[in-house]
Amino acid sequence: SFNGSPRDVGQMCRDLGLTICAFQPFRDFEGMPEPQRARNFARAERKFDLMGELQTDLMLVCSNISPASLGGIDRAAADFRELGERAAMRALRVGYEALAWGLHVNDYRDAWEIVRRADHRSIGIILDSFHALAPSFPTMAIQSIPADRIFLVQLADAPKLGLDVLSWSRHFRCFPGQGDLPVAGFVEAVLATGYSGPLSLEIFNDQFRAGSAVRTATDGLRSLILLEDQLGKAAAQVPALQPRASSRGVGFVEFAVSEAKASELAALLGRLGFRRTGTHRSKDVERWSQGHIELVINCEPDSFAHSHYLTHGAGVCAIAIDVDSAGAAMTRAEALKAHTFHQPVGPGELEIPAIRGVGGSLLYFLEGAGKNWDVDFEQLDSDASTDRLDGVDHISQSMPYDEMLSWLLFYTGILDLKRLPQMEIADPVGLVQSQALINAGESLRVVLNGSSATRTLSARFIHEFFGSGVQHVAFSCNDILSAVAAMRARGADFLKIPDNYYDDIEAKYGLDDATMAALRQNQILYDREGEGEFFQIYTHAFDDRFFFEIVERRNYHGFGAANAAIRLAAQTRESRPLAMPRS
Ligand code: MG
Ligand code: MG
Repeated sequence: SFNGSPRDVGQMCRDLGLTICAFQPFRDFEGMPEPQRARNFARAERKFDLMGELQTDLMLVCSNISPASLGGIDRAAADFRELGERAAMRALRVGYEALAWGLHVNDYRDAWEIVRRADHRSIGIILDSFHALAPSFPTMAIQSIPADRIFLVQLADAPKLGLDVLSWSRHFRCFPGQGDLPVAGFVEAVLATGYSGPLSLEIFNDQFRAGSAVRTATDGLRSLILLEDQLGKAAAQVPALQPRASSRGVGFVEFAVSEAKASELAALLGRLGFRRTGTHRSKDVERWSQGHIELVINCEPDSFAHSHYLTHGAGVCAIAIDVDSAGAAMTRAEALKAHTFHQPVGPGELEIPAIRGVGGSLLYFLEGAGKNWDVDFEQLDSDASTDRLDGVDHISQSMPYDEMLSWLLFYTGILDLKRLPQMEIADPVGLVQSQALINAGESLRVVLNGSSATRTLSARFIHEFFGSGVQHVAFSCNDILSAVAAMRARGADFLKIPDNYYDDIEAKYGLDDATMAALRQNQILYDREGEGEFFQIYTHAFDDRFFFEIVERRNYHGFGAANAAIRLAAQTRESRPLAMPRS
């Protein structure tokens, strides 16, 4: 489709310092009856001409899927021997790759046997992690292939899906580390042969196609660095990364607002039982606390927060993660090509190391939480005995669907977070994909929500916020009924849940009458997971942008996914009518 010649393409690559390491794919070659067989050799000669113009010497032939093709390992080997003769005359090479859905050859071990019997120096094998790992073939046998017979190695990961392997490969491949396949084990087997050729990322993915090329390129590099680090000694060409920072939880959440909105937000926090515990020594910044929760309201005109406010409006501009070593976290993040951020600080003030996170917000690494409050803030007296909330339970970030894999790799690459199974949640006007990340101690939970439908609340948030960002922060407590009662006494009001919901909960769980009445009166949502119980309640949206959730967990590890559709419908009813999309 390019409006120039193959020679131009080759030159453009060389001008960029790139080498074209393979031409692909050449399909439906081996095992054909005449006259298709002769036609295939003629077709191959034409592609050899093309390769000459591109200046590449390796052609990838993937295993035949044509219904006309004939089986037989020796027949295929004979075809490759003849192709090898023709390739050798032009100093070209041909690599054979088993497609997982090949008609006669779908296993790399059979492809290797064909290459072995072709017995020609211009014929080798091409290994692709997806085609070996998706059908769960063992990778041990790779180790017995001589390195000089492996012409190219292609890498891809993929999430575990109950999908036919062809659709799975064409739409859901992803970078190593973003999926569930044991790619590192595959590469280890490849390296055991002594192979030292290129590792090619071969990804077909709808999100990547829709997303930003720069982001995808950065993610590809990040993925390879992580893979190399995971292989450790086997690769040993780069200095090891710092180990993943041990996270302890959320140190603080910072909101960027205008002066007018600051008092509105402060009033809301007050109704939720937060206390104003500090004012910044030199900036227009307030600290609000409750239990172990620390919130910052920032309306300093000359600050990162202000520029974030100008771009996105009121919302979360930074999250601080409490880690065991902020220095090590920064070193690892930098090695993984995260963008570091420095902000001018006043004399004697603390500079907290930071990187760019979701939607241009900041991710701070806080070590020894507490120091920053003493150094930078004037302490205000308040009475902590009324605190009902304890900590930040989770932070939920909305992003376009095509950014989800990128932020997944960002969080799991830098921090000690693991993926929970991805969920699909029904918004009244489309589907939202939800991916929770959690550390081993369950003290840090981040939820990534992505939607490709344009009118879901998640998508509307992104549209109206001018990009990805925090859509809600959930606080934990030990007794949600008394916490909510105290908040209501302070004038707090919560998202209205339809009565039908409670009829359903009553029918489903047989809770006692008093509990049922309390849930219904207070608009508290309920879920159960085995013996575990979960209670959650939502504030109205602040400025139609973000909201707070209060949860009580009793041996429960999820996020109330069963209630998400009810909550989203209630929020959609309360939200402003959908504006015409900005052009
Ligand atoms: Mg491939
Ligand atoms: Mg939540």
